[in-house]
Amino acid sequence: MTEVSRFRPRDSMAKPRIASGPRTFMRLPWIDEPAASDVPVDVAIIGVPTDSAVSYRSGARFGPEAIRSASILLRDHNPATGIDVTQNLSMVDAGDAPVVPGYHDLTLERIQGHLEPFYRKGIVPVLLGGDHSLAMAEMRALHAVHGLISVVHFDAHGDVLDDYYGVKHFHGTMFRRAVEEELVDPTHSIQIGMRGSVHPDDVGAAERLGYEVVGWDELSATPPMELGLRVRQRVGDAPVMVSFDIDFLDPAYAPGTGTPEVGGPSTYQALRYLRELGPLNFRSLDVVEVAPPYDHGDITSHAAAVVAFELLGQVARRAIQDRKEETTLK
Ligand code: MN
Ligand code: MN
Repeated sequence: MTEVSRFRPRDSMAKPRIASGPRTFMRLPWIDEPAASDVPVDVAIIGVPTDSAVSYRSGARFGPEAIRSASILLRDHNPATGIDVTQNLSMVDAGDAPVVPGYHDLTLERIQGHLEPFYRKGIVPVLLGGDHSLAMAEMRALHAVHGLISVVHFDAHGDVLDDYYGVKHFHGTMFRRAVEEELVDPTHSIQIGMRGSVHPDDVGAAERLGYEVVGWDELSATPPMELGLRVRQRVGDAPVMVSFDIDFLDPAYAPGTGTPEVGGPSTYQALRYLRELGPLNFRSLDVVEVAPPYDHGDITSHAAAVVAFELLGQVARRAIQDRKEETTLK
């Protein structure tokens, strides 16, 4: 038997993908505690089955299992970028984070406690949501390990409201709270894709907090390479989290979500933008707000799986760059 040097998906040519066993993300090995693994782990997929903080349609608690199920179709190589994620990253599916349905603050505490060991070990989690409020726990855990972080945030909504119904922690308030709690440096962060009708308090709110905002109207006229350049200039080499709310996509391409916003980008447009992001100092990724009860033909789950795959390609791009620099130094 050959020694395992990294964790990889089950081979789709040896066995049909439909028969690859329990549905882990991308047919990856299921490892409960990757931080304690002898084999190095670069990336851990973590489901966050919570939807206690939504304002409209619930159901995102079933997002992780639906994304995992759709993701068994993913294969190693991405012809569009030339990147093979499985050659460059050791990846596992680490199961789900602990949540307490109906108890939002407790849920945030438990997710944060679950994530910190991953960041400490240098493992990049891919969080499968779950409603977007989980980003609050993600940012708190990241900050505890890395200090001030940057955020690249794809969403139809800015999620910078001050409160909902007098409550401070909801799926539309995290990116304001994160600035108030001094977790995120908004001057090295960027929000992308905002559109739709908003509350008057929301107009210009993200910019006043210090974020750069590229609304969908502007983005639709921006070539992908130009967006990538703008993101890298903004973020620099800061430890960064990419947060992808699936409602960034037009509801025609992602109907299974809690707060759909019509008139947005197609899945293909989104993938083109994602392919130009890196290399960045990626520390955490999330794909959130997938609500399978409103999905049709698993459109949204497939979109979410491919979005995660493209983001992993960007993490791999960074790993490739780091290795090149190491070789040059030697
Ligand atoms: Mn949204
Ligand atoms: Mn959101």
